[in-house]
Amino acid sequence: MARWPRAGSLLRGLWDTSSATPPGAARDDAPVDPELADTDAAEARARRDALRPDPAKIGGVGDAPFAALPDAVTLFAARAERFDALAAGHPLGDYLRFLAALTRVQDSVRAALPPLPPPDEAALALRLQHAMPPLSPQDLDGDTAFAATLDALLRGIAALDAALVPDAARDAAARLAGRPAAERTALAAAVSAGATPVDHLAEAVFAAAALQVHLARRAATLDVGALHAVADGVCPACGSAPVASLVVGWTRASKARYCACPLCATQWNHVRVKCTACGATDSVLYHNVPEVSPDVAVETCGTCRSYIKHMQQHAEPRLDPVADDIASYALDLLIREDGFRRGGLNPMFV
Ligand SMILES: [Zn+2]
Ligand SMILES: [Zn+2]
Repeated sequence: MARWPRAGSLLRGLWDTSSATPPGAARDDAPVDPELADTDAAEARARRDALRPDPAKIGGVGDAPFAALPDAVTLFAARAERFDALAAGHPLGDYLRFLAALTRVQDSVRAALPPLPPPDEAALALRLQHAMPPLSPQDLDGDTAFAATLDALLRGIAALDAALVPDAARDAAARLAGRPAAERTALAAAVSAGATPVDHLAEAVFAAAALQVHLARRAATLDVGALHAVADGVCPACGSAPVASLVVGWTRASKARYCACPLCATQWNHVRVKCTACGATDSVLYHNVPEVSPDVAVETCGTCRSYIKHMQQHAEPRLDPVADDIASYALDLLIREDGFRRGGLNPMFV
């Protein structure tokens, strides 16, 4: 029987589980891993010292579209394949394989659900008119399509091979299935805001998974031309913080950079060498640790002391911002030693 990965042993103290701040969200304090401090200090220092700005990967941008909506039909199948590929020989292999299975459930749910009811066009237009993202994960009460998505996802988890699902995860799915609708939507809203209660982390993964399916399907039906910039670090479709930034290959614009939404999977253009959290441009640095990943770097901002993963998707088209963010957790360990806090959101990063 597979076991739920223990954060302390697998992620080597990346976060303090006594904190009220969820691991996937931003926080101000960078916990010091006692194991690193005691036994691996020299190695960790050497690796941290190897971090260097990467000006060679700073390039120009041509005529890049402002945003790209997700392809909800291919999104989850491709992500599941990426999780499986990353799991091979990885210290977090069991967790990555569990997420691959969960992502395949997301894809099955997506394929089996009835078409979404049409959106409330008047409410949607009003939100756009007031420079707000058209989708609102804070407002799921009474959304029968989201409720059906979460129900189907939890049924899919219950039907998974026991070897793929840790006991704690199966128990969490059962607990979530038994909660009143209002509590479920409140948990989904908390996840989307990066405020997951630490005593519901496992349940939150499933609420987030349902939210990803629901919002990606909704986002795929939006008018991309109606989207506009809301603020730095805010998805123009659903209002989430980004999970990572990508140099993409899907546009002919040279080295165009996009932020990726962890929830609705919309991507939006963001000026290079500009902090995705605060918009500062004067103290942004890039750091590579090729032995962790040749295609995933860290962008740090000396102004707000946040960081975000910066991914060369044009060089590795299979790269998935949600999956590769988790698989490159060693970068989080290193950069937090220098006092930077996570600036993005990844609800699967537990
Ligand atoms: Zn979004
Ligand atoms: Zn900043």
